[in-house]
Amino acid sequence: MPPGVPPKSGLPVGDLPSQCSVTVDMPTPRSALAVGAHPDDVEFGCGATLAKWAAKGCAVHHLILTDGSRGSWDADADPAQIAAQREREQRDAAVILGAGHVEILPIADGELAAGIEERRRVCAVLREVRPDVVLGHDPWRRYRLHPDHRNAGWLVVDAIVAARDPHFHSDLGLAPHRPAALLLFEPDEPNHVEDAGRFADVKIAALLAHRSQYRSTHGIDEAAGPPGSQVREFAERVRAQMASHGALAGLDCGEAFRLLDDI
Ligand SMILES: [Zn+2]
Repeated sequence: MPPGVPPKSGLPVGDLPSQCSVTVDMPTPRSALAVGAHPDDVEFGCGATLAKWAAKGCAVHHLILTDGSRGSWDADADPAQIAAQREREQRDAAVILGAGHVEILPIADGELAAGIEERRRVCAVLREVRPDVVLGHDPWRRYRLHPDHRNAGWLVVDAIVAARDPHFHSDLGLAPHRPAALLLFEPDEPNHVEDAGRFADVKIAALLAHRSQYRSTHGIDEAAGPPGSQVREFAERVRAQMASHGALAGLDCGEAFRLLDDI
């Protein structure tokens, strides 16, 4: 939806939710902005969808809201070195997915707030990148422990409202922008699936670029022996998750989202 076009449905007083059906595959957007709390979150949440769109010419941008500097179980590791490695890994993963641009905000891992200043920064990115579709963590997902994931979700939702309305952060000097759609990954109540059949291997390859996360996130302990069989087991876990997501829409392989398109 172009900027300035009012929402196409609903009144601002809270319509009752309609019975939820699952839609499949939106048209390939011209540009997409994927927002994650840490390096690797975007790949887990929507890596195959981004790869599919990039292969069809979509300009994909990654915005990572923290430096990932606490993403290690090694108590002796240097946070600055962790952050540097994770930035390299994120850029490698983005290349694998076909993304053209990666931005990592200099906010310490674990200290992401969903305040006005953080919202202003995300709003600025939205108005600069001007994506058709935004992807981010579902802030309404229940029982989520990590504060960065909760706050990253709120920041995306709140920054979309700010970016579309001209009196929010007008000091930025950037024209308002209203994306056509928001896709929330790790959805509490999915209502949309992107068919990911041909892109599961690309998603897995991008996830494996995050080598610093093998032990803590991927369940691959290189100290326990050659990683080959553990890597294969990790890939199978990712494929099993994609199969369960796809099954929501009768597909063999997919990524599930909460789609909001009345922005
Ligand atoms: Zn994360």
